[in-house]
Amino acid sequence: MINPRQVAAGVVGGVDWQSEVSGYCRCPGESLHTHKTGKKDCRVCVDGVPTIFCFHSSCAPAVADANKRLRRELGTPWTLTLPGGKVLRAGDVLQASGAILLREVVLARAKAEGRHPGEQLVLETLVAMAGRFKPELFEKFHWPFAHILEDSPLLVADRDPDDQFRTWLRLWPAHCHVWIGDIYSTGRPEHATHFRPLADWYQIGPAMGNYTCGSAFKPGTYSRSNANCDGTRFLVVESDSLKKDEIGAVFAYLNNRLRYNLHAIIDTAGKSLHGWFDAPPNKVMEDRLKAALTVFGCDPKLFTYSQPVRVPGAWRDGKLQRIVWLKN
Ligand SMILES: [Zn+2]
Repeated sequence: MINPRQVAAGVVGGVDWQSEVSGYCRCPGESLHTHKTGKKDCRVCVDGVPTIFCFHSSCAPAVADANKRLRRELGTPWTLTLPGGKVLRAGDVLQASGAILLREVVLARAKAEGRHPGEQLVLETLVAMAGRFKPELFEKFHWPFAHILEDSPLLVADRDPDDQFRTWLRLWPAHCHVWIGDIYSTGRPEHATHFRPLADWYQIGPAMGNYTCGSAFKPGTYSRSNANCDGTRFLVVESDSLKKDEIGAVFAYLNNRLRYNLHAIIDTAGKSLHGWFDAPPNKVMEDRLKAALTVFGCDPKLFTYSQPVRVPGAWRDGKLQRIVWLKN
C-alpha cells in the first residue's frame, strides 16, 4: 500500500507537514514567480482531490503539471492512519474539526445536489483547503483600509455625492436598467419608478434610496427578484464579520490571484466595504467561489443576485456611502 505523504514528497520535494494531510512545500513553478516567494506560499494536500496550491499565479502551468502527476500517482487506493486510529482513505476529506468526510457522503451530496461526483469532491476539497490556507491568505494579501484609499488608481473618495453616484453609474453598460430604492421599494406596480435606464438615473441623481443591486433588470420590471434580472451583473463581495482592515485581503486575493476583475470598492458608511467584481463566468466557477468565500468569512447571500447593496452617493446617518477605490 502506498503512503500518500511519501508520494506527495516525491512530487514536490520536502513537505513541512502542518497536519496529517497538508503542509507547505516548494512551489513546482517557483522559478516563474514574478513576486517575492514566501515560505508559506505553496501547499500540498493529499486528501479529497490531491492538490498543490500556490498563492502566485505566474507559476500556474508548472503547478498544473505537478497536480496532474500528484493525482496520477495517488490515483490507486491508499489509506492513512491518523493519530487516534481513524483511517482516512483516498477520496475522503479531513475536515477542520478533525472529522473525516467519507467519500460515500460526498457521493450522496453530489446526488442530492444534482452535481457530478467529481465536482462535488472538488468543492469539498476546496472548503477544507480554503480553511487551511486562510491564515496565510489574510497575511499575504493584507490590504488595510488606509492602503485601499492610497492605492486607488483614480482619485475618487473625496468626490461630491452627485459625482460619486455618476461615477458608479459608469460601471454599467449603457443599455442597462438598474434598481435604486430602499429595501422595500419592490414588489408592486408603483415600484416600477425605482427600475430605470441609466440615462434616467443620470438626471435624477442618488435621490431615490440608499440601495441598489449588483444585477441589472429587464425593462418593465417592478419586482427585485432573481427571475427579473437581465443577466448583466457584478459579484458584490461583502462580509458581516470581516472588518474594513480585513476584507481587503479577500478583494486582493480575488483580483490579483484569481483574476476576477475588481471594478470598485464601496465604503457603505457603516462597518463594511463592498467589492464590485466581474461575476463568475459559469455556475461551476460560481459554486467554487461561493464555497471558498464563505470559508473566508464572506456573506453567502452575495450570490443571490437580486440582493440589495449600498449605492454610492447616498447619505447614511450623516455619512456618505462612497467609492473609495476605482479601477482606471
Ligand atoms: Zn507558485
